[in-house]
Amino acid sequence: MQKIKQSALLKTSSYINGQWHASDVTFTVSNPATNEVLAQVSDAGENDAKLAIQAAKKAFRAWADMAAHERAKLLRNWFNLMMEHQDDLARILTLEQGKPLAEAQGEIAYGAGFIEWFAEEGKRVYGDTIPSLSADQKILVIKQAVGVVAAITPWNFPNAMIARKAAAALAAGCTFVVRPAAQTPLSALAMAELAEQAGIPAGVFNVVVGQDARAIGEVFTTDTDVAKFTFTGSTAVGKSLIKQCASTVKKVSMELGGNAPFIVFNDADIAEAVKGAINSKYRNAGQTCVCTNRIFVQKEVLASFTEQFTSAVNNLHVGNGINDNIQIGPMISTEAVDNVAKLVEKSIQQGAILHAGGKRHQAGRNFFQPTILTQVTPDMPVARNEVFGPVSPIIAFESESDVIAMANDTEYGLAAYFYARDIGRVWRVAQALEYGMVGINEGLISNVAAPFGGVKQSGSGREGSKYGLDDYLAIKYLCMGGIKD
Ligand code: NAP
Repeated sequence: MQKIKQSALLKTSSYINGQWHASDVTFTVSNPATNEVLAQVSDAGENDAKLAIQAAKKAFRAWADMAAHERAKLLRNWFNLMMEHQDDLARILTLEQGKPLAEAQGEIAYGAGFIEWFAEEGKRVYGDTIPSLSADQKILVIKQAVGVVAAITPWNFPNAMIARKAAAALAAGCTFVVRPAAQTPLSALAMAELAEQAGIPAGVFNVVVGQDARAIGEVFTTDTDVAKFTFTGSTAVGKSLIKQCASTVKKVSMELGGNAPFIVFNDADIAEAVKGAINSKYRNAGQTCVCTNRIFVQKEVLASFTEQFTSAVNNLHVGNGINDNIQIGPMISTEAVDNVAKLVEKSIQQGAILHAGGKRHQAGRNFFQPTILTQVTPDMPVARNEVFGPVSPIIAFESESDVIAMANDTEYGLAAYFYARDIGRVWRVAQALEYGMVGINEGLISNVAAPFGGVKQSGSGREGSKYGLDDYLAIKYLCMGGIKD
């Protein structure tokens, strides 16, 4: 853990009720760029998950009853501390997750931004008065914190996926228990250290780090003291967790997988489209849920787009993300590389043409070359599956209606992108795409002020924006009678 200035940020055990819970049983966290061991982390299980829920339950009343303005001050302290330690947090993130340091710094600012945003937004949880049907009654609506929130988050954004949920939950007055992915627990624990330094009371924010996702997930989804469960991860795991939540009818929100189309129409600004495609495809080595997964290009501009895009892809610098000027770091694991290699190989066997990359990268066993496949058809493995790696399949199309049908032909509905200038087309396509988020002449669309989330099998609920608080609030209707003398 070279060059971490504030060693207090390096924690290796769960944070429950304001205490660090060390145990003799540990698991190893390694650097995916070098496979070096970074830390031995205490392995929490079912009992620790229950303890954390009890701590959150105990802390709930006082936190929910605190004035929103006071909660906002504590959240603001947390935001300030995250920004003050941005370099250290980014370094920890790059070491355990692999993304280039500049991207990791961006993720810390993005994650902290949700804490700043919701610190303010929590002050604006308004109710309603509704004209009554009777002169003797008043109808009022108030919104209240749902209670204890349990969360499970993935490894691809070890800071921001937690911050995006915790910020809204805490601002709404809920208390929070999170289990981060076992590959990336250190970023979550550093956040807990800063929450404590910020003055967030014991039990309000808890982190349970353990290898056994299934056992901890079982407790989170079935414990009657958890009012709401929120998950970010794959659609397959999300589906089974929804089923588990049914036994206690929890409020549930799911941020699941995607299969984003990126459409380049013949009236697009091609240089801008290339820039957008690079940003949305190769960020985090292609391992984000909103990453472009299929690039559709209209026949008239296929040659010019492919030429410019190939030149940009061949200029990407691959290597250990901790070093300067790296744009593509390692993938999270050797299995992830194997999976991507298989999808590429099978698609080539089915007729795709390798235009760039296509193999493991010499930087190490977890690296894959930035890759382009052309002459791809929608039924090939690289187009049907969420590739989650640095691979761009290019599919040619003729008409607007053809490409909309192909873009929507997936069970996913998270993000979509298209480049066009004709105003009529822009409106038609934006409406027709069955996705929760659409980038129009933009490849990077996520920010604190915008509602993030999907439709179809990409999930339910929204994170960020003024809509993000709704997932942590219950509506209560008050009917006041006896008004007339
Ligand atoms: P994953 O396998 O579903 O894992 C996500 C989290 O769930 C991890 O913490 C994992 O723990 C845990 N988990 C796995 N199986 C579990 C089970 N049976 N019970 C309880 N928890 C379980 O997903 P991934 O492959 O790591 O992450 C990538 C996926 O996340 C992609 O599909 C991506 O699109 C999606 N994602 C979606 C969004 C969004 O906002 N929509 C954002 C980021 C990522 P371990 O890793 O420790 O096993």
